[in-house]
Amino acid sequence: MTRDRTEAPRTDPSRRRGACPRLFEPMETGDGLLARIVPSGAIALEAFAALCAAARTHGNGLMEITARGSLQVRGLTEISAPRFAEAVEALAVSFDEHIPVVASPLPARSAAGFRPQELAKNIRTEIARRDLKLAPKVSVVVDDCGPISLDGLAADVRLRLLDSATAPRLLISLGGDGETAMPLGVTRLEHGAEVAADLLVALSLSGSNARVRDIVALEGLDRFVHAAGARLEATNKRFSPRATETIGLHRLDREACALGAALPFGQAHALDLIALARIAEANGAAWVALAPQRTLLLGPIGEMTAFALGTAADTLGFIVDARDARRRIAACAGAPACAAGHITARALAARIAERLPQGDFALHISGCSKGCAHPRPAPLTIMGTAQGARVIEADSVVHLPISSAYTDEFIEDIARRVAVESEDA
Ligand code: SF4
Repeated sequence: MTRDRTEAPRTDPSRRRGACPRLFEPMETGDGLLARIVPSGAIALEAFAALCAAARTHGNGLMEITARGSLQVRGLTEISAPRFAEAVEALAVSFDEHIPVVASPLPARSAAGFRPQELAKNIRTEIARRDLKLAPKVSVVVDDCGPISLDGLAADVRLRLLDSATAPRLLISLGGDGETAMPLGVTRLEHGAEVAADLLVALSLSGSNARVRDIVALEGLDRFVHAAGARLEATNKRFSPRATETIGLHRLDREACALGAALPFGQAHALDLIALARIAEANGAAWVALAPQRTLLLGPIGEMTAFALGTAADTLGFIVDARDARRRIAACAGAPACAAGHITARALAARIAERLPQGDFALHISGCSKGCAHPRPAPLTIMGTAQGARVIEADSVVHLPISSAYTDEFIEDIARRVAVESEDA
């Protein structure tokens, strides 16, 4: 595709909050324009460091990994956003320009040698071939059922490996996450890309804003069954969703591992990411892959090296222990980074986390009622509103003036409540 590299990023409707920000269609936020990149595979460390350097040069230096494993760059401007996009395009970084096709991030380990990245690439090719007009939030997930589960990611079309050395198959399900998606049927590996694209063609018949879950709710599975045709064997197979840990060591083969390190509250400074990439490189790693749970994976490295790299990542402020107290809190960008934020969610989260012991997820801090960081109920929630801060715990809701939410007394009280919740659990 040829692009006018000098043109400014497009304006409405892509700039509005709630739209899907992309590299060439950044979104307005409280701290400038935000661009999102969905990498289509691992990124060479050199290219990743260059991308982070570009984020620092053209943005405010703050970078994020989302819960779905996308990369976000904050603080771009009208002038710098196209320059940043141009810098990224010049790097050896491949990313989804159409809809996101998210594949299991680690190299293949299945008995059948299934390569999720390869299938994802073929799906992209088939989608491009059909020139589909789809809603920007439509997505496809390719899950190899390996060490990192994608069951937590909702998608319009899901392909899940049913592994078997002799007859591997793909289970196709629609419109939800690993728990809620409707099973459609089973297909052979070689049909996976075409079937996925044909399902999206069936979706596009309802217009460029349609989502699979809405079509399924309205009219059932018929049009999708028809679109897949003889390549599909009927099934109503459902699997319990798998919860896996992204942080820590993941074995790639007998000699090599990948180390998962998460960004505290999903955010880090470009300089820290560059430093981590350099240390990983010095320890023999070659790539970084983004994963769900706001994690980056560095590999391939030896087990002994992984320990040194983990220590360095910890020193830089990254999370390398799954039970790190910061992981007990989900906090969105909040004020001032998000224009809708009424409270500084991440700053508040960092202060509370300092007072917490390790443990399980316990607290959601949301800049406004939208709840971006944790769309489900949490044991304890602090929410910013135009009238003040709201503290929600089970059936009790307490309203406070905003200023009260920043006092040491309040922070101590929240930390104590989290500790009590942990004891009760
Ligand atoms: S929940 Fe947080 S990030 Fe989402 S719109 Fe509200 S303030 Fe912004």
